[in-house]
Amino acid sequence: MAANSTKTMIIKNGYLFDPLNAIDGEVKDIFIREGKVVSSLSGHEAKDATVIDARGKTVMPGGVDAHSHVAGTKVNAGRLMRPEDHYKSVRKKTDITHSGSGYTVPSVYKQGYDYAAMGYTTVFEAAMPPLEARHTHEEMRATPILDMGAYMVFGNNWFIMRYLKEGDIEKAAAYVAWMMRTHKAYGIKCVNPAGVENWGWAKNVKGLDEPNIHFEVTSREIIRGLAEVNELLGLPMSLHLHANNLGHPGNWETARDSLMITSSLEPNSKMELEWAQTRESAKRKQTVYLAHAQFSSYGGSSWRDFCSGAPDLAKYINQTENVVIDSGSVPFGPATTMTGDGPAQHDLYMLTGQKWSNCDIEMECGSGVLSLMYLKSSPVHATMWAIGLEVLLLIDDPWKTIMTTDHPNGGLFSQYPQVIAWLMSKKARDDTAKECHKWAYDKSSLGGVDREMSLYDIAILTRANSARTIGMAHRKGHLGTGADGDVTIYDIDPGDLNVNDPSYIVSRFSRPDFTIKDGQIVARKGEIVYVPEGRRYYCQPHMDEDVEKDMMRDVRDWFKYYTVGFANYPVPDKYLKNPVPIPVNMPMEGSGEEVGRWQK
Ligand SMILES: [Zn+2]
Repeated sequence: MAANSTKTMIIKNGYLFDPLNAIDGEVKDIFIREGKVVSSLSGHEAKDATVIDARGKTVMPGGVDAHSHVAGTKVNAGRLMRPEDHYKSVRKKTDITHSGSGYTVPSVYKQGYDYAAMGYTTVFEAAMPPLEARHTHEEMRATPILDMGAYMVFGNNWFIMRYLKEGDIEKAAAYVAWMMRTHKAYGIKCVNPAGVENWGWAKNVKGLDEPNIHFEVTSREIIRGLAEVNELLGLPMSLHLHANNLGHPGNWETARDSLMITSSLEPNSKMELEWAQTRESAKRKQTVYLAHAQFSSYGGSSWRDFCSGAPDLAKYINQTENVVIDSGSVPFGPATTMTGDGPAQHDLYMLTGQKWSNCDIEMECGSGVLSLMYLKSSPVHATMWAIGLEVLLLIDDPWKTIMTTDHPNGGLFSQYPQVIAWLMSKKARDDTAKECHKWAYDKSSLGGVDREMSLYDIAILTRANSARTIGMAHRKGHLGTGADGDVTIYDIDPGDLNVNDPSYIVSRFSRPDFTIKDGQIVARKGEIVYVPEGRRYYCQPHMDEDVEKDMMRDVRDWFKYYTVGFANYPVPDKYLKNPVPIPVNMPMEGSGEEVGRWQK
């Protein structure tokens, strides 16, 4: 570990792909001091610097995963449910690392090492239920190397549904602000709004305008309300939506109609922090971020006439500016599906008969976990594979897309290099389609897509846009002055890159030569060489104190229905190592006025 003791680093002669600074493969040197990118080093600093010669290699900012399931009770349920999963992949103990096992749901140690070895330095957990926040933070605390944060699930929360029914956006915002501070959450996640609550009565909701049981609020009202709360508080990320009807044939229309709900809102992030320099705007443009679009881009009316709805959904997204999606691509093989969408998981259980677990989380949300195998021979799985690539290839502007597998739902984060190969190479897609059930190309438009993504596009989809979308581009996803010194060096010479050799792309993206975090080498060719502790990002939104007092009376009143005592609800500070709170919506100094509270 002492090998990394120098405070300065120079990465020389590499081909740099840094889309937020509009750098597309230029040969450029990168200077890092005290963990941050700087424009130059003094002669004395340069003399002591760790120097890496990246001649003939591809250099990108460290990878940023905007949507992955890596911490918390449902992830751990997946580990417990699947002992067979632990045999499939293991990592040996070394002098500086723990041992670890697990293929679709690796142990906390192994997932940190595996992400870092693949060039990723920042990963966000996509669904944290408030009552499980302590467990989520415990697992993030135990995950080595990675900077992390977690989105909190609000779409079926009883307090939110009640406030929205009463039309009280201010109280809803006060509740969200208090919950995010209390549980140390980063963003607002909304999963099958109104439907998961109905699942408590073994039901779901069918459309956006069906009032749910008891609360009598609709999905549309919840999406609109939470998006308004999000922009009222000025959170770094927009509303993160897991749409209704997920996993059902014909659901692309539900997805489109859901995305239209926030189209009249303006993005309005109000974070109190310093921004590293970028040439492109580092602020998010979207007012809704659709999770794992593949699972919401289905055509047809049943599994018999199932087909891709991705061309239709992409057509809508191409003509609007308020949407970003991540893909939830399906690279085949074993997976463990895990989601807050309890009813969707039950439907999948009825279809597959696989091992399944289900959970209801008091007045907050629910979840389900299921083991699954995606097969090339399955007509539906083959079509899902195509859809998971169509949603990235048919949306023209790469700044509206992020590459994920919704790990471990559509596939595993360790399969990202395979997805990259399909995006960069038509031949790779055609080769795979030949091994698949004919529905892959017959029921989608993928066979007719000629687009092959460049290294610049891949850098947008795997770091620049994921960072910008979630509001982390003030320090992540680029290498402008002031950014974190997170750098990945791939053994790829852009001049020599032959995209007709997909196995080359897969191997080079799987094992970068160097993963550098905060100016320190953490991994070399897949081997972990240094194990720092990552940071935890969370938001501290400010809200009017009187409204918050009013809201707290409701919380205390209803808390008698909870199984935990009120004092045990918050996440104590000691659950976080290296916490980085982000102040949001702070009152303007001296004036007593709050900044732009009602800006629309
Ligand atoms: Zn997910």
